[in-house]
Amino acid sequence: MSNLANIRIVLVNTTHPGNIGGVARAMKNMGLERLYLVAPKDFPADRAVWRAANALDVLDNAVVVDSLDDALSGCGFVVGTSARERRIPWPLLNPRECGVRSYQEAAQHHVALVFGREDRGLTNEELHKCTCHVHIPANPEYSSLNLAAAVQVICYEVRMASLLDEQGNLPSFDDWDVPPATFDDLELYFEHLEQALVDIGFHDRDNPRQTMTRLRRLYGRIRLDEMELSILRGVLTGIQNAAYRLKKFEQQRKRP
Ligand code: SAH
Repeated sequence: MSNLANIRIVLVNTTHPGNIGGVARAMKNMGLERLYLVAPKDFPADRAVWRAANALDVLDNAVVVDSLDDALSGCGFVVGTSARERRIPWPLLNPRECGVRSYQEAAQHHVALVFGREDRGLTNEELHKCTCHVHIPANPEYSSLNLAAAVQVICYEVRMASLLDEQGNLPSFDDWDVPPATFDDLELYFEHLEQALVDIGFHDRDNPRQTMTRLRRLYGRIRLDEMELSILRGVLTGIQNAAYRLKKFEQQRKRP
């Protein structure tokens, strides 16, 4: 199967159906087909159909889901788009690097390119679920592109990477012995990690500071594989069991 078929475009809470149609067209022009819509405000809609022109098949096959987690299920590489700098910097790609990297990753697993709301973009929480971010280096005085235009730029770079590959000019992707952990497994891991940190008294859910965000960024930089993740889950369980035994021991000691 072609790498392009493994790349999905995810639109979060899109307001204007015309933009959804415009995105479908931008995708098909560049050879991409898998469109995921997270809780769109108004879809299906005639305006989406008009703007999609001959990309109606992409629109018809769009997968509508309730949450971003559902849209990212099964993905081994997730890129979030951002029109501006964020407070906590994240591993950042430029559009060219994003095209090459997404195309290469798609040889092995599903890849998601995530785009935000027309008015507010993606929330920090959504961006922190992504392995990397990509920013289109537009005019700093007006850096926010129309949604469909932003999708067009990123999809164009993916297409350029696929053409380089056809010509045998794309450097080969370093094979790893174990597949990377998927988005779903990573989310379960972060839940487990947070609970373990609470259990040992390191982390307070009511006063979280940026602990989990920074840990997410750390693990994103490392890029855990499935085996490493399962070892880490085992370590967490061991730590939780030790904390539980200690707590029980202390309770028994306090009893008269
Ligand atoms: N006002 C919003 C911009 C939303 S534009 C904000 O400040 O975040 C809608 C979407 O288009 C963004 O969420 C992003 O997915 C994409 N987009 C627009 N301009 C972009 C840029 N310069 N780089 C990357 N993505 C961009």
